[in-house]
Amino acid sequence: MNSPVTLEKITALAKRRGFIFPSSEIYGGLANVYDFGPLGVELKNNIKRLWWQRFVHQREDMVGLDASILMNPKVWEASGHVSNFSDPLVECKHCHTRFRLDTNGFDVSGPCPECKETKGFSEAKQFNLMFKTQIGATADGSSDVYLRPETAQAIFVNFKNIIDTSRKQIPFGVAQIGKAFRNEITTGYFIFRMLEFEQMEIEYFIKEVDWEKTFNHWQEEIMKWATSVGISEANLKFREHDDKERSHYSKKTVDLEYNFMGDFKEIYGLAYRGNYDLTQHKLSYTDPVSGEQFVPHVIEPSFGVERTILPILLDAYHEDDKRVVLQLKPSIAPYKAAVFPLVQNKEEIVSRAKTVHQNLINAGIYTAWDARGNIGKRYLSQDEIGTPFCITIDYDTLNDSAVTVRDRDTMKQERIKESELNEYINSRIG
Ligand code: ATP
Repeated sequence: MNSPVTLEKITALAKRRGFIFPSSEIYGGLANVYDFGPLGVELKNNIKRLWWQRFVHQREDMVGLDASILMNPKVWEASGHVSNFSDPLVECKHCHTRFRLDTNGFDVSGPCPECKETKGFSEAKQFNLMFKTQIGATADGSSDVYLRPETAQAIFVNFKNIIDTSRKQIPFGVAQIGKAFRNEITTGYFIFRMLEFEQMEIEYFIKEVDWEKTFNHWQEEIMKWATSVGISEANLKFREHDDKERSHYSKKTVDLEYNFMGDFKEIYGLAYRGNYDLTQHKLSYTDPVSGEQFVPHVIEPSFGVERTILPILLDAYHEDDKRVVLQLKPSIAPYKAAVFPLVQNKEEIVSRAKTVHQNLINAGIYTAWDARGNIGKRYLSQDEIGTPFCITIDYDTLNDSAVTVRDRDTMKQERIKESELNEYINSRIG
């Protein structure tokens, strides 16, 4: 019988198998900060690589950027982040815990969710979400810098550099993957809301007349991407921002939301930002053919890496009486295959298995090695981390040069010639 997935099960599996650890755990952790372990980093790198291939390498109208986290603070003044990037907060008069006023269901006339007292809350204050630090030894205001709260601004401020060096003409886009930092107040929900996270962002520069068709194009691309990495379309829906929610410069913004156990929450955003950003940074574009000078408009698709990982894990998780299996897309799975010598004490089998393992690694197929316990237990162990294929080298291999390949999802076993193994695996991992 199937047993439903819960966030607790995913959190426990992620910890137990080395996907995601609480940060600095031996010192009691740090709330809303997480580390990606040996398998988590593989999963994350696979997602980032696939995104980059799809949106940079496979498109002639896109280039990449890798900018620094620290920027001149004038960037954040011009972008509006210093004055506007804030949440309204109230403080419990008893325990002094702060809460976000705009969080669903929060009620200032009720008891404090933390201490349950009913002493009431302070007036709402705006709280800036940017982390501030200082450059150099002095702590005077002149050397304040911010950890970037989004990757997008670095694309805007490099607009002229990119135009001057890449020969790109409008319409074109710039993509960037990198860390962003936000001093979030609402906490919890595992890696959904972190203080330090990774974004994959695109600024797509256009003429104003093209905004609607470009917006629709990127809306389709966002959905195609999400399903391509294994997020179930049945759990996804777009939600358009209403006038109150949308930034003043945006004519249209939609969020792609994922159904987290009945609660739809944003995983990606898509915004038409007008020409607000380049105007703020006093940048413009001159058409190389017509000589026309104008400030390009922008469509911004924004993807969170961790908000990709969590839905992938939730949708991939299957549990029944016999096993827990992560049905990850092979392209996303940390290991593509695992190699097992049937027994540990027969030198010929172990060394033959080592050769098979090394050949797969040499072919660029990241492959696990496991020689412990019985084969059934080794299958279960690989199922739980989503390895699509398990390969066993047994006594017959020594005579027929074939191995047993067991499929994670169907659990069917096939005999495959050793000489055809790399091709067999390669053609099935995408
Ligand atoms: P929310 O309303 O959930 O705080 P947001 O509207 O502030 O999100 P954006 O500013 O649109 O988010 O950021 C773009 C993307 O960056 C989001 O769609 C999400 O994938 C990711 N992201 C934003 N904040 C966080 C966070 N604290 N932890 C993890 N990912 C985040």
